[in-house]
Amino acid sequence: MNLPTHLFVDGAFRASATGRRVTLINPATEEAFAEVASAEVADVQAAVESAQRAWEGGWRDLAPGKREAVLHAVARQLREHQEEIAQLERLQIGKPISDARDEAGLGARCFEYYAGAVTKFGGQTLPVARGGFDFTLRQPMGVVACIVPWNFPFPIACWKAAPALAAGNCVVLKPASLSPLTALKLGELACAAGLPPGVLQVLPGRGGAIGDALVTHPLVRKVSFTGSTDIGRRIMELAARDLKRVSLELGGKSPNIVFADADWQRAADTSPMSVFANTGQDCCARSRVFVERAIFEPFVERFVAATRKLVVGDPADDQTQLGPLVSAEQRASVEAFLADARGRGSRFVCGGGRPQPRGFYLEPTVLLDVGADDRCWREEIFGPVVAIVPFDDEAAMLRAVNASPYGLSGSLWTNNLSRALRVSRAVQSGVLSVNSHSSVHVEAPFGGFKQSGLGRDLGMAALEGFTELKNVYVAE
Ligand code: NAD
Repeated sequence: MNLPTHLFVDGAFRASATGRRVTLINPATEEAFAEVASAEVADVQAAVESAQRAWEGGWRDLAPGKREAVLHAVARQLREHQEEIAQLERLQIGKPISDARDEAGLGARCFEYYAGAVTKFGGQTLPVARGGFDFTLRQPMGVVACIVPWNFPFPIACWKAAPALAAGNCVVLKPASLSPLTALKLGELACAAGLPPGVLQVLPGRGGAIGDALVTHPLVRKVSFTGSTDIGRRIMELAARDLKRVSLELGGKSPNIVFADADWQRAADTSPMSVFANTGQDCCARSRVFVERAIFEPFVERFVAATRKLVVGDPADDQTQLGPLVSAEQRASVEAFLADARGRGSRFVCGGGRPQPRGFYLEPTVLLDVGADDRCWREEIFGPVVAIVPFDDEAAMLRAVNASPYGLSGSLWTNNLSRALRVSRAVQSGVLSVNSHSSVHVEAPFGGFKQSGLGRDLGMAALEGFTELKNVYVAE
C-alpha cells in the first residue's frame, strides 16, 4: 500500500520545514511501519497563507452550486477508495477493519450531505418595525483550523472539513500525530476530485509543536477542535485573546440508564458494544450504567455473558470486534485506572488483564461496587472499562447522572413513554438515545453540554458554525 507520508499543502505533498518525522507504530503488532513528516511553525505559516490565497482567489466567491458539484466529486473519490482508507485506519490505530470500512463510508456520506445542504442553506428576510427590507446572509469566515483526535480520525476529519468547505471556507486540517494517514489521503483525494489547491491543507504533526501557532494565527478565523477537555480549554483560552470563534467537542462520561420496564434483555445484549466499541476509546462510550434494582442481577449476568462473547483480536480479521488500544501509553493510562479500582475494592466481574502478549490489547472489563468518588466513576477512562450500579429512585438516579462535569451522550431504556420524555428532558447531555445506543447521525447536531464542549458538529448546525451571520437593512 502506498502510504502518504508528507505534509499536504497547496495541492501537493511536501517535506516539513525542518525535515522532522514521526514514527508510526502498528498497535496490533507493536512494530514501526512508517515515518511521517511532522509540521513545524514555519509550515503552519505557509499553509495558512496559502489557504488564505486560495480563499481570496476564488473559493469564497464560488457559487454554492459549483461547490456542491466539487464536494460530490470528493465523495465519489472517497467511496472509490473506501477500502484503502479503511486499511490505513486499521494500520495506524488498530481499528477493526469492519468498523474502519463503515467509518470510511461515513466520511464520504458527510461530503454527500454537505454537498446537497449548501444549496438549501441561507439567510432570512425579517419584518423589522421600521419598514424597509431586512435580510440576513450567512457568509464564510475565511481560513478555519480543524484539529482532530486519533480515535475516529477519518470520519471526524470529514465531518469538520465537509461543512467548512461547503460554507465557502478554506481549511487547515491537523490530524493527531498517531493518525495522520487518512487525513493526508483525504487531502490528496479531494484535490484529485477537483478541489482547488490550497483549499484543504493537511498538517500532520505534534499538537504541542504547532497547536499554539495555528490557533493564534491572525488569519485563522475559527478553530474547530475535537479532543480532550484539557486541550480544548487551552485552545479556548488562546482564542479568547482575539475573540476567535471556537467550537469544541471534548470528553465524556456518558450514562446508560436501564429501567425495569424496558426490554432490558435487549439492553443487556447491546450495551457492551456501547462502551467497548473502538476498545472504549470513544467520547460517547456509555461507561456509567445505571440499572433499576429489580433487574440489576439478571442484567449484570446477561451483560457479562455478552461481553465474554466479544471477539478481541487482529484488526485485519473481518470478525474482530475489539482491537488493541492505540498505544502503549494509552494502555498504561487505562491500567492505572484499573489499579485504582482494585485499590478501592471494586469488584472485577470480568476482564482486567491483557489477553495476549503482543499488541496493546486489554480485555473488556466490567466493574461493580464502584464508589461515586472513585476515578473510574468520575473520569473519562478512554479504554474498555465499564461500571454498573443499581438505582431505586428516578430522581436520585438523575442527580447522580447529572453530577458529572461532562454531558455528551447517553442512552435510556424504558417502554414507558412519559418516562422516556421526562428523563430525556432531565439528562444534561447534548445527545441522547432512547432504546438504542446511537450517537452520531450526519443529519443531526452532535455536541456536548457542560465540559463536553461548545457548539455543534454535523447537521445544518455545522454550517451555521462555519459561517458569520450578517444582517443587512435596506431603507425603502
Ligand atoms: P488530544 O486533546 O490529546 O488531541 C486532539 C488533537 O489536538 C490532536 O490533533 C492533537 O495533536 C492536538 N493537540 C494537542 N495539543 C495541542 C495544542 N496545545 N494545541 C492545539 N492542538 C493540540 O485528544 P486525543 O487523545 O487525540 O483524543 C481523545 C480525546 O478526544 C478524548 O478526551 C475524547 O473524549 C475526545 N473526543 C471527543 C469527541 C467529541 O466529539 N466530543 C470525539 C472524539 C474524541
